[in-house]
Amino acid sequence: MKKISDYFGCMVFGDRVMKERLSPDVYAKLRKTIDEGARLDPNVASAVAEAMKDWAIELGATHFTHWFQPLTGITAEKHDSFIAKAPGGGVIMEFSGKELIKGEPDASSFPSGGLRATFEARGYTAWDPTSYAFIKDNTLCIPTAFCSFGGEALDKKTPLLRSMDALNRQALRILRLFGNTTSKYVNSSAGAEQEYFLIDRRLYDRRPDLKFTGRTLFGARAPKGQELNDHYFGAIKPRVAAYMAELDEELWKLGVLAKTEHNEVAPGQHELAPIFTTTNIATDHNQLTMEVMQNVAAKHGLVCLLHEKPFEGVNGSGKHNNWSMDTDDGIRLLRPGASPHENAQFLLFLCAVIQAVDDYQDLLRISVATAGNDHRLGLHEAPPAIISVFLGTELTEVLESIENDVPYKGVGRREMALGVPVLPAFFSDTTDRNRTSPFAYTGNKFEFRMLGSSNSIACANIMLNAAVAESLRQYADELEQADNFADALHDLLKRTIKAHKRIIFNGNGYDDEWKAEAHRRGLSDLPTTPDCMPHILDEKNVRMLTEQKVFTEAELRSRYEILLGNYVNIVNIEAATMLEMARRDIMPAVSAFSTTLTNDALSKAELGVDNTYERSTARRLSELLTKMVEGTAKLQEAADYAHGGKDITEQSLRIRDNVLPAMKELRAAADEAETLTDNRRWPLPTYAQLMFGV
Ligand code: ADP
Ligand code: MG
Repeated sequence: MKKISDYFGCMVFGDRVMKERLSPDVYAKLRKTIDEGARLDPNVASAVAEAMKDWAIELGATHFTHWFQPLTGITAEKHDSFIAKAPGGGVIMEFSGKELIKGEPDASSFPSGGLRATFEARGYTAWDPTSYAFIKDNTLCIPTAFCSFGGEALDKKTPLLRSMDALNRQALRILRLFGNTTSKYVNSSAGAEQEYFLIDRRLYDRRPDLKFTGRTLFGARAPKGQELNDHYFGAIKPRVAAYMAELDEELWKLGVLAKTEHNEVAPGQHELAPIFTTTNIATDHNQLTMEVMQNVAAKHGLVCLLHEKPFEGVNGSGKHNNWSMDTDDGIRLLRPGASPHENAQFLLFLCAVIQAVDDYQDLLRISVATAGNDHRLGLHEAPPAIISVFLGTELTEVLESIENDVPYKGVGRREMALGVPVLPAFFSDTTDRNRTSPFAYTGNKFEFRMLGSSNSIACANIMLNAAVAESLRQYADELEQADNFADALHDLLKRTIKAHKRIIFNGNGYDDEWKAEAHRRGLSDLPTTPDCMPHILDEKNVRMLTEQKVFTEAELRSRYEILLGNYVNIVNIEAATMLEMARRDIMPAVSAFSTTLTNDALSKAELGVDNTYERSTARRLSELLTKMVEGTAKLQEAADYAHGGKDITEQSLRIRDNVLPAMKELRAAADEAETLTDNRRWPLPTYAQLMFGV
C-alpha cells in the first residue's frame, strides 16, 4: 500500500518543492509575492522557471501550458514543448521566466462579448503565483489569468483575484478598528461539495442527447426512482468504489484535498467534498476535479455526468459553496468567539454578509445562472431561485435582541460592555441544520447552495467577496469617523439588522408558502436565466462592482453578452438534438411498432382471436405519433423564431417562452410512446438502464 502522505501533492510545484529547489533568497521573494501580492522581479521569475522545468522534466513532463479559465466555463490550455534547438544541432529543454510569466494564446476563438472589438484583437495569459503549478498528462500546467491587451479580463480568475483583494482591503480596515495590528491579510475561503452521476459508457454512447447536451432530453421514468431513499449514504457498489478510490488518488497527487465521497439521493448519484482552501485555489481545484472526474470515469468504462439535470423525475446535481473569511494568523471571522470583544467583531462580519446577500440578491442569483441550473432551482431538490439567509434560531434571537435592545435570553447569557449580548461559546455547534436554505450559516461559514454542479465556483465567490467587501467598506467609512467606537458599532449593528432582516428565513425554503411570503418581503424572485441576467447591468450593481474594482463596466457588458449567449446556444443545441432524435430514432421506432401491432391485429381478427391489446396500443401510438409530428414542427418553428431574435436578449426570451415549452410538449408525447413500445424495439437505453446500470 502506498502511503497517502508519500504521494500527496507529488505532481504539484508547491511549497515543499519550492523550498527544496529554490535558493533561500528566491524562495523568500516568491513567498512574499504569493502571500502579500508583492511585485515579482523578473530575475526571480527566471530562477523559478528553471527550477519548475527541471522538476517537471524529472517527473516526465515534456510540455508546458498556461492553464486558464475563459468564459466558456471550462479550462483551456495550449501545449508547448520545452524543446529548443541546441547550438550544435539536436535539442535542449528550455523554459524561461518570460514564458512562465506571460503567454499569448490565440484568443480569437474564446468568447469576449465584444471586448476584443472594443479593445485589442489578442489576449494574453499571466501567471498566477498564488495557485501552484502542477503536472497533468505529462504537461506542466501553470495557472494563469487571461486578459486582453487593454487589461480587460477575459476569464473568471482575474475578477476573482480582484474580489479577494477588495475583501482583504476592507476587512483589514475593520480589523484595525477592533485594535488588531498583527493580521497581515484576510483570505476568503471555499470548500465546494461536488455532486455527479456515474453511468455506463456503452449506454451513454447510444444516447445522442447525453453526448451532445449532457442531459437526457427524452426518457420515461423508471418504475423506481429515489422514493425509498435507499441510495443516499448507502453502501457503495464495487465498480463505483473502485472509481472513487482512483479519483481520490489522482486528486491527491494533484494536491487536491479530496476528503469525503458518498452516495447521493438519486440512483447513480454521488458526491465528493474537498477540504476548504482560498477561494482562488478552491476554484482551480474544483475545475481540475471536474476534469479528473471525467478522465478517471473513462478509464472505468463509465461517464461522469456533471449536468445539473441529467434525468427528469429524480434529483439533479448541485454544488455547495462553503464560504468564509480567515486572517493569515488564523482568526476565523465568521466564528463566534468566547469574549465580548471577539463576539462584537463576529457580529459585525456576520451583519456584513447578511447585508451583502440582501443588497445583492440578484448578483448571487446571476452567479449561478445557466440553462442547466434553471431546471433545478425552484424544483424540489434545490433551493428556490429566491435568495434568503438561514441563521438558526439562536443566532436569529441574538440579532433580534440587538435590534430591540433587550438582553439575549439564550443559554449562558452574559451582558457585555457594548450593550451587545454575548453569544454562548458553544453556540455554533447547536445550529440546527436546514437543508432547504439557499444560503445557510453552518457554524464559522456560510453554505451557498444554489450553484449548479457544472458551474465554476469562481462566479459565486466573486460576487460574495465583492458584495461583502462593499458592506465592510460602508462600515469602515462610518466607524473610522466615530468618536465612540462602541456606541457607533452598536448603532450600526442595530440599523443593519433592522434594514436587512427581511432576508433572514429559517423555515422550509421548499414550501410554496415561502414564495408568497418572500414576495411580501420584497425579495427578488428571478426564476430563469433570461429573467436575472439583465440585472447584472443594473446601476447599483455596476456601481458596486466597479467601485470595488472587480469588474469594469465594459467587462460586465461582455459578461452579459457571453452568459446569455451561452444560454441561447445551449438550448439551441438541445432543440436541434431533440428534433434529430425524434425524427430519426423515436418516430421511426414508434411507427414500426404500431405497424406491427396493426398487422397483428388484422391477423388476429381473421382468426377470430381477441386483439384488444394490439388495437388499443396501435391506436394510442398512432395518436402519439401525430402529436410528435406536430410537436417537431412546432419546435422547429420555435427554434427558427428564436434564432430570428434581433439580439441575444430577445433570443433568450423567445427561448424561454417558446422553445423550452415546445421541447417539453414533444418530450411528453415521446415519453408516453416509450411506455407503450416493445422494449426490444426502443432505440435508446432507458432510464432504468442508465440509472441502475452501474
Ligand atoms: P456538510 O454537513 O454540508 O457535509 P461539512 O462540515 O462536512 O458540511 O463541510 C462541507 C464543506 O465545507 C467541506 O468542503 C469543508 O472543507 C468546507 N468548510 C468547512 N469549514 C469551512 C470554512 N471555514 N470555510 C470554507 N469552507 C469550509
Ligand atoms: Mg453541504
